[in-house]
Amino acid sequence: MKDFFGTNRGCCKQKGCDCVDFSSKLENMTEEEVEELGGRYMSCQRRSEVTLTCVCGHDSAKHEALPEPSSD
Ligand SMILES: [Zn+2]
Ligand SMILES: [Zn+2]
Repeated sequence: MKDFFGTNRGCCKQKGCDCVDFSSKLENMTEEEVEELGGRYMSCQRRSEVTLTCVCGHDSAKHEALPEPSSD
């Protein structure tokens, strides 16, 4: 899955982590969980933090960067 910056991210490279695909924590949060963080009033810093954190708990940079699939 693509991260916030549009980089395709694959498996997590963190030792002992068996995550195979980056999946943003924010996208996998329930509305209640998002509300707890302030909902749409969530600070930019907090928002980018959860956006760049995978459901496995590691940030997107820890995930393998995959080359953009060519469209031709
Ligand atoms: Zn991980
Ligand atoms: Zn992950």
